[in-house]
Amino acid sequence: MFDTPSKKEACGIFGIYGVDDPAKHIYLGLYALQHRGQESAGIVVSDGVTVSTRKGMGLVPDVFRNGELEDLKGNMGIGHVRYSTTGSSMLRNAQPFLVEQIDRFFALGHNGNIVNISKLRRKLESAGAIFQTSTDSELIAHLILHKKGPLEERLVKVFQELRGAWSLVFLSSNGIYAARDPFGFRPLCIGRKGDAIIFASETCALDIIEADYVRDVEPGEIVVADKDGLRSIKSPQRKNLAMCIFEYIYFSRPDSSIFGHGVYQIRKSLGVQVALESPVPEADFVAPMPASGNYAALGYAQGSGLPFEFGVIRNHYVGRTFIQPSPAIRNLGVRLKLNPVREILKDKSVVVVDDSIVRGTTSKLRTRALREAGAREIHMRISCPPIRFPCFFGIDFSSKGELIACSKSVQQICDFIEADSLAYLSLEGMLRAMPIPAKDFCTACFTGKYPIQITDDSTKMCLEMNTAGPSAWP
Ligand code: SF4
Repeated sequence: MFDTPSKKEACGIFGIYGVDDPAKHIYLGLYALQHRGQESAGIVVSDGVTVSTRKGMGLVPDVFRNGELEDLKGNMGIGHVRYSTTGSSMLRNAQPFLVEQIDRFFALGHNGNIVNISKLRRKLESAGAIFQTSTDSELIAHLILHKKGPLEERLVKVFQELRGAWSLVFLSSNGIYAARDPFGFRPLCIGRKGDAIIFASETCALDIIEADYVRDVEPGEIVVADKDGLRSIKSPQRKNLAMCIFEYIYFSRPDSSIFGHGVYQIRKSLGVQVALESPVPEADFVAPMPASGNYAALGYAQGSGLPFEFGVIRNHYVGRTFIQPSPAIRNLGVRLKLNPVREILKDKSVVVVDDSIVRGTTSKLRTRALREAGAREIHMRISCPPIRFPCFFGIDFSSKGELIACSKSVQQICDFIEADSLAYLSLEGMLRAMPIPAKDFCTACFTGKYPIQITDDSTKMCLEMNTAGPSAWP
């Protein structure tokens, strides 16, 4: 992606039941899901009687250093990597969120965004609840505590009150629960390794521990892993789902399968569609903007018959903590991560493929760098339509000011990023590349058609800032 700084990713969740060393499995699972959140990481494990946790700010290997998993003992546990979409980035907002009372405990890790959070929180606060964090997870925890009856009944009641996106893993003294909202916004899959049952945001987290993929947790389903094995509590299926199409375009790892389909092939199909819609027959070659544009560029090359080259090389060893010492050399930071290959680009007409443009500022710097490296023509091709609307379901590009396509036409964006031509994939082309019917996707950041009416104060305020305005799902 051209504009990484302004588009934050969803969170990653992982749960496992029935192993002697859950913390080590969760550590590996979170490692595989690191791309979904880099601000904080946490693990909670239990043997059904005691519970222990470790959380911290930073990447998984920074939070869990040598030997620090040894204290986390039990036969089950959950883990979370976070990129804040609600609540600021601070340790107390790190997940999983653990509740301990005299006679019970539970913990939960959440991926998504609850859109009626203000209303629910006000209600809980007037009933005496005191919040320590500003996260959705704590809200869900309080809702569970304020319900009566067995845990499973409480969960069902809580999920009936929530509006928005949630894929979550939940640990109690009995076992691990995994749940997805009725629209199925975020992915969540089930795996098995011997007798152990695993839940993970993406299948790449199953691969890393050599577990087999069983199936996805279905939208609206609660799956329980406990001493009796695997159980399912299902709610009636909705006619239309709203799985986040952006998971396929950008968020999920290309080696994952989500919503039942492989991400790699879909990204390639998006590239083929862009080639069909917006060819550049006179170009010398196709180059990806690594790594976000790799698979769509491969598809574009195959769809167009043009050669494929790496015109830009990514430095894999640039951490998130790179410090830009002064504004004068800030732009050099762009070169630190991606550097053009002069002998490949010199005097060439290049089709550069990327997955999206958010703010356009980094895109401009990249285009300039390609031109300075000798590229004669730069034809930008984007493997999704322009992002014009904020997301309220767990992806943090929610401010209107951040979205260049909100205020500029495609030609104006092309001029701004200093490309010779710019073309986005059409909405129809994007949906054609998908193996799932259009009615089951959320495409709100492209269309403004939100699958859920946004009524909550905090989220509504965001919407009202958007000039184009939202419309409800047809
Ligand atoms: S608005 Fe966009 S990013 Fe957000 S859930 Fe819908 S498709 Fe995904």
